[in-house]
Amino acid sequence: TPSAAEVAALVEPGSGPRVLGVPGQINLDYAATAPCARAAADAVAELLPWYASVHRGAGALSQRCTLEYERARQTVGDFVGARADDYVIFTRNTTDALNLLAHVVPAGTIVVTFAGEHHANLLPWRNTCRLPVPASPAEAIRSLYAALAELRRGGGTEEILVSVTGASNVTGELWPIRELAAAAKRFGARIAVDAAQLAPHVAVDIAELDVDFLALSGHKLYAPFGAGVLVGRSDWLDAAEPYLFGGGASARVGDTTSDVRWAQGPARHEAGTPNLLGAVALAAVCTELEAADRDRLEREEQELLARLRSGLAAIEGVAELRTFGADAPRLGIVSFAVAGRESAEITAALARGHDIGVRDGLFCAHPLARRLLTEAATREGWARPATTAIRASIGLGTTREHVTAFLSALTTILTTPPAP
Ligand code: PMP
Repeated sequence: TPSAAEVAALVEPGSGPRVLGVPGQINLDYAATAPCARAAADAVAELLPWYASVHRGAGALSQRCTLEYERARQTVGDFVGARADDYVIFTRNTTDALNLLAHVVPAGTIVVTFAGEHHANLLPWRNTCRLPVPASPAEAIRSLYAALAELRRGGGTEEILVSVTGASNVTGELWPIRELAAAAKRFGARIAVDAAQLAPHVAVDIAELDVDFLALSGHKLYAPFGAGVLVGRSDWLDAAEPYLFGGGASARVGDTTSDVRWAQGPARHEAGTPNLLGAVALAAVCTELEAADRDRLEREEQELLARLRSGLAAIEGVAELRTFGADAPRLGIVSFAVAGRESAEITAALARGHDIGVRDGLFCAHPLARRLLTEAATREGWARPATTAIRASIGLGTTREHVTAFLSALTTILTTPPAP
């Protein structure tokens, strides 16, 4: 096994935007939080001397901050293909964005999701119809058609929102967004996509995909923590009560408690002083990714992913978690369990002995992860499923040497008997 220092010396960055990191530390946990892009750090550093209020001050610094904030809104909207009349609402992250969407859906809306979603797309909804985890993308489409047909049987005209992930944070598998959107539209439903994992890896255009709402997190898209967005249809957003009550969301406040006129537009749901640096950093990454050759970045990622998956498949006792089968299209995320070994013990050994950061757990998608752990155990003929899985996830800063070091460290750990 090469030492961490030897591995760092070998690093040949890919062709994409540069990301920050600590020499010697191998981060294979991009699906939890991706490293910060240099462009994001530079954008923040450039704006820091201009630190002043947004939307509230008359001074030159404040004017620039307001301009930068609104420019960031435009840039992030363009990055995901927002239509002219869509709103881009800055939120804290994807969880916040989906909770905002749950807040603005018209009363009585039925929300259709699949049981394999991240908790952020399972728990905020009130009136839900949760479909079982499908065995293939085709089954997901069939199952959605059947569910929507059933909901519309008898001529029901209530609003329906389908809310699905673009790519699973457990398996990296891509969901058939275009076809699911077509199914939704066929039955007069709207569709929201949780793009927390999708957007960092694949170019997304919601107008072209006919998607109504999209949520993403800056910290998974190479920007710092604290900024995300909900992008989508302005009619629901304008019709709902503000998500937060306070300054900025109110256009006029009278003397009595009921005398309030709420703002229209994104400000309605952005009460309080906004996270300017987060928005600007996120926009800087969007600009950089938009200028990059994303097809090439995808090819590079797929090449690394193939190495990672084939390396794991060659290690005795390792079983990959997957919903759609071994050959389904996926992003640079692999979750797996190891026969008879505790995932947490392995991830701790990777960190302690090899300076490699990965995650173990059920990845905030408990129903899905538990099910896939059980399926993997059955497929492999294990006596019982592992209680948690290990997830390795890659992105812009990942190199072949990182993947090689990970596989070789894992092999070393697995050929060393666990402590008694
Ligand atoms: N959806 C998916 C698919 C995710 O992977 C995550 C983060 N793991 C979220 C939603 C929630 O994102 P955040 O924690 O940034 O709100």
